Amino acid sequence: MDIKKNLEEVLNNIELAEKRSVTGEKVKLIAVTKTHGIDIIEKAIELGVKDIGENKVQELTKKIEVLKDKVNYHMIGNLQSNKVKFIYNKVKLIHSLDRLSLAKEIEKRASQDDIKVNCLIQINIGDESTKGGIELRDTEKFVESLLEFNHIKIMGLMAIAPDTDDEKLLRTCFKNMFNIKEKIKSKGYEGLEMKYLSMGMSNDYEIAIEEGANMVRVGSKIFGARNYNI
Ligand SMILES: *Cc1c(COP(=O)(O)O)cnc(C)c1O
Repeated sequence: MDIKKNLEEVLNNIELAEKRSVTGEKVKLIAVTKTHGIDIIEKAIELGVKDIGENKVQELTKKIEVLKDKVNYHMIGNLQSNKVKFIYNKVKLIHSLDRLSLAKEIEKRASQDDIKVNCLIQINIGDESTKGGIELRDTEKFVESLLEFNHIKIMGLMAIAPDTDDEKLLRTCFKNMFNIKEKIKSKGYEGLEMKYLSMGMSNDYEIAIEEGANMVRVGSKIFGARNYNI
């Protein structure tokens, strides 16, 4: 696996897609390293990767223990409330805030330390029962319900698009995300940033960027296929 070549290609594609995007904004790459070992991640860091994404708390904490502050950590997977304590003060961003009970736990932990935890709200954009996230139509209500949590900083929205080659459907999903983000941003809630739109993975990141994503989470296009048995 030629990570260097893959990474260059992804970064190049991101740059080209930025030029076609509705916003023209710079896009941040989160290299998704789940299932991959420390040596591979260290190589990616050497090649300039600054942010990595992991979807399991146990795997993430193991990697943090070894890599320490060499890289920024993003929690991108479903997060159980009883595992918040292991990561809330170690990650740069939690992408998967999707329920009030989870927000309460993050708020509780963060307030004890008097820190703010950066979070994105995960939207179930394809209305898929197998995926986490709140329903699109509940987004504003959910955001408003989080405003009282002083130790949670809402930085934007995240979505995992349906696993499909239907480009039209993907674009509709991404557009809906962009529109709701802009709508909430325009309300100008105090303490709410609505800066990031985290969407787009290996198969759809260029489309996502064109439709307004400014954070993409790319794994297999950089590191190759995952082996879940390790
Ligand atoms: C695994 C994963 C990704 C990356 O998937 P690829 O298709 O390998 O790019 C992105 N986001 C989330 C939430 C993931 O779990």
